Amino acid sequence: MKFTDLGLSAEILRAIAEQGYDTPTPIQQQAIPVVLQKRDLMACAQTGTGKTAGFTLPILQLLQGKRARPKQPRVLVLTPTRELAMQVEESVRTYGKHLPLTSLSIFGGVGINPQIHALARGVDILVATPGRLLDHMQQRTVDLSAVEILVLDEADRMLDMGFIRDIRKILAVM
Ligand code: AMP
Repeated sequence: MKFTDLGLSAEILRAIAEQGYDTPTPIQQQAIPVVLQKRDLMACAQTGTGKTAGFTLPILQLLQGKRARPKQPRVLVLTPTRELAMQVEESVRTYGKHLPLTSLSIFGGVGINPQIHALARGVDILVATPGRLLDHMQQRTVDLSAVEILVLDEADRMLDMGFIRDIRKILAVM
């Protein structure tokens, strides 16, 4: 199977080709068609097997054609750590570089004001750690009512780190 067999747009295929990839990894081959059909999916694979692109590529495909409103992300990706949040957002930028979509990563330990301004401008794909996202929800600087797609990245690790209560609070407003 090639990436061109998956039904992804020319802009996304161009970004993939620029990374030098032509063959989807096994998790990508299995996950991408399911996400494109807008079905729920739980996937598990070792580190380094291409999981991030496995959800990022079909999500970029599904988002095309509309734009985010101020403070209302269309996709929320929750990650356990700031490092992972930054990595995931970097992948979104890489694969979405030829699309007019916006992304942002938010996490604690850094100033909240730049995040508030970026959210206010409108963000299609928001990648967040749970604690800082809850801060924004309490300050009403983010509104999750327009989220179309939710990703729990490294869900097992988030549970190990005790994020279940935070995640429940976040899910409750969607
Ligand atoms: P991940 O498991 O998502 O952390 O990805 C591991 C690494 O594999 C990343 O550096 C990706 O850029 C790379 N990668 C993702 N998809 C492919 C692919 N289809 N072919 C070759 N490398 C890939």
